[in-house]
Amino acid sequence: MNPELAALAQQVKGFMPHDEGLALYRAAAEVASLGPLVEIGSYCGKSAVYLGAAAAESGGVLFTIDHHRGSEEMQAGWEHHDPGLVDSRTGRMDSLPVLRQTLIDAGLEDTVVAIVGDSVAVAAHWSSAALVFIDGGHGEAPAHADYEAWSPKVVPGGLLAIHDVFPDPADGGRPPYEIWLRALDDGFLEHSARGSLRVLRRPVSGPAS
Ligand code: SAH
Ligand code: MG
Repeated sequence: MNPELAALAQQVKGFMPHDEGLALYRAAAEVASLGPLVEIGSYCGKSAVYLGAAAAESGGVLFTIDHHRGSEEMQAGWEHHDPGLVDSRTGRMDSLPVLRQTLIDAGLEDTVVAIVGDSVAVAAHWSSAALVFIDGGHGEAPAHADYEAWSPKVVPGGLLAIHDVFPDPADGGRPPYEIWLRALDDGFLEHSARGSLRVLRRPVSGPAS
């Protein structure tokens, strides 16, 4: 990965350990020529820099989707709340300005397209993706909704990546792990794992649909 982007990614606010980000970059680089990359959960753009680096190298594109209002666990009073991301005018969370700044700093404005909205609403009008990275709402309903809406978009031979997969309940919440199990059940094949990042491949022909 471009060393300047690797250095920048580590400075960006967010939730992507560097080794997992590099694994995400490698997975994306493998399939970026097959079609667009899609990320659910842009936040401040940390993982988008890893994915965007892969897209840029192949002349591809990353669509990164977020309503920028934060997940449940990012609201005031919750574990992952960041008071620096509250819009003083509305009192609500807004990570969009930081995402834009990250993309400018990374020189990825021509490669990464930010989509502002609800992930499932966007999916309803989406055709396909070479890679879908699910890292949006981590609660039961949003994680399963993202899986149901987005896993069918992965092209044959393409990749489905899921973040925060913790097989041991002591390490973190269940829903990302549950949707990883669903993906295996639906015929996706294990591709790679790094930390809590799990990557699966849709077989070129077979039952995954
Ligand atoms: N990938 C990021 C972290 C994402 S945090 C990083 O590398 O740091 C999860 C994000 O998902 C939050 O920004 C939240 O606003 C977004 N999100 C949660 N539910 C969503 C939904 N239904 N539609 C769009 N975005 C959603
Ligand atoms: Mg995550």
